[in-house]
Amino acid sequence: MEEGNNNTGKYIQKRIAAIVLAGGRGTRMNSRIPKQYMDLCGKPVLYYALKAFQDSAVDEIVLVTAAEDIDYCQRQIVDKYHLDKVRYITGGGKERYDSVFNGLKMVSQSDYVLIHDGARPFLTQKVIADNICAVMTQKACVTGVPSKDTVKISDGNGCVADTPERSRVWIIQTPQTFATPLIYQAYEKIFTMDRSNVTDDAMVVEAAMSLPVHFVMGDYRNIKITTPEDLKIAQVFVEEQGS
Ligand code: C5P
Repeated sequence: MEEGNNNTGKYIQKRIAAIVLAGGRGTRMNSRIPKQYMDLCGKPVLYYALKAFQDSAVDEIVLVTAAEDIDYCQRQIVDKYHLDKVRYITGGGKERYDSVFNGLKMVSQSDYVLIHDGARPFLTQKVIADNICAVMTQKACVTGVPSKDTVKISDGNGCVADTPERSRVWIIQTPQTFATPLIYQAYEKIFTMDRSNVTDDAMVVEAAMSLPVHFVMGDYRNIKITTPEDLKIAQVFVEEQGS
């Protein structure tokens, strides 16, 4: 991807990678088939996120999946739908952060990397472009939307411990986008620290690097398919788009 003119008349080429995560088993779906492979209007859930990156300025995609699903992904998704930006399909790990780190090892040649949940099929071109634009100046970005609901923090014993000011609460989505050397270094460091609470990539940068992470406005439709009702909502969204 071309970032811009560097005053010498030459365009600076920046290499943009995307890691799409599909290595989880999704126990909250109560389904034999992991959520990322469930049928969504005739195509697997995972297809939609890969197709969004295929149609974007991203140069290469790394798909992270369970080792036993690599062959299925190659034949039934990547080959079948001609997703030729998918350069590698690699095995995931026990936790999400293990899967991300496996993906990061495959994108070391890139300048920037977008890390996205394969279970989020409604990734728009605008959200991808806004992430790419933001990371070029901010280095660490997280997609999110302002919370519509009041959020309360539990004391762990069934009572409210705290109520954060709603105007400052954001619901976090993916992609989360970083300068590649920064996120790689952060992940290397987090493996030497307590990482039991790490559920997203921004937390790795916050904990390991103590660097600011910037918000990029997401989309209320950019839902993660987690439970059966999410799949029903997703079907309505796909039907509305007519794709
Ligand atoms: O479990 P959760 O919904 O947070 O997973 C978010 C994404 O991370 C999903 O797309 C899932 O497939 C992926 N994941 C992974 N490897 C794991 C756990 C989750 O790639 N070990």
